[in-house]
Amino acid sequence: MSLRYFVLRRRPALTALAALGLLAGSPAPAAAQAGVLNIYSARHYQTDEALYANFSKATGIKINRLDGKEEELVERIRNEASASPADLLITVDAARLEVADSLGLFQPVKSRLLDERIPAALRTPNWSAFSTRARVIVFNKAALKREQVQSYADLATPALKGQVCMRSGAHPYNLSLGAAVIAHEGEAKAEAWARGMVANFARSPKGGDTDQIKSVAAGECGVTVSNTYYLVRMMRSNKPEDQQAMAAVGVVWPNQSSWGTHINISGAGVLKHAPNRDAAVRFMEYLAGDEAQAYFANGNNEWPVVKGSVAANPALAALGSFKSDTLPIGELAKTTVLAQKVFDRAGWK
Ligand code: FE
Repeated sequence: MSLRYFVLRRRPALTALAALGLLAGSPAPAAAQAGVLNIYSARHYQTDEALYANFSKATGIKINRLDGKEEELVERIRNEASASPADLLITVDAARLEVADSLGLFQPVKSRLLDERIPAALRTPNWSAFSTRARVIVFNKAALKREQVQSYADLATPALKGQVCMRSGAHPYNLSLGAAVIAHEGEAKAEAWARGMVANFARSPKGGDTDQIKSVAAGECGVTVSNTYYLVRMMRSNKPEDQQAMAAVGVVWPNQSSWGTHINISGAGVLKHAPNRDAAVRFMEYLAGDEAQAYFANGNNEWPVVKGSVAANPALAALGSFKSDTLPIGELAKTTVLAQKVFDRAGWK
């Protein structure tokens, strides 16, 4: 049950490559190894360590893990092609899973257990979600009233001119949100919405979700959108500046009187050339278990996808409950490419 842990760098240490059976100039398919599972992961949270260790303990299957940025891992899997030792890719956001899927990196998995445990809207034939996050509205309580920012559409109203802060329109989180807007309201309305928001920008898009929250808290702008786990992270933080920031902002579940708040996922798929396919499917099924669900979700302050699984996370629970978008995640994922075109036309850089 020893857990090998690598951080992916531009030039991974030779030992790391050797450990994964990946030696330069060996084009032959990676050989299956009994009792081994090779995971490429763009998720690296402390509680995930327990998740992997428990799997090894329960199954005797040793996990070799390569951690890295999503784009680098995808590029690597493409370059390795049929010689790839990777069995499973774990990542976040449907837009990213769609990128990997559209490149043909996954293979379909048929599993009765996954079909029974994971809601149909949260899986596709080639990949599955294991936790969810929501994209919510965060506003400065001194600058705006809660009533002004009840929906994503509200962010495009002229009344909010100079008040909106956003991260890049090319980021998967915003592309997935854009895909949801397109799916529910059509391409033309989605483009008008994006144009309206761009016209309301307080500044050019920059930074990540946490930066947007901090800008709103500091009064640099009145409103933004953020994934819930960034908020929960700040809620759980002991830093006085984070506590102050959280005291200055309000959080709104968008679109409660229409199609619901956009949710996204952390997920995984079995890779096309997986040398240890059975172990990979077994790990997917393990992730759908109650205990693993709690670990997986808690690792990033997310919600489990399996009904009845409970992540004991008071800060997350404090956010309350909400009506979420029921759009199938696979459909959403496939619309992210169109979302990028719509955002490009609207000038959301
Ligand atoms: Fe994130």
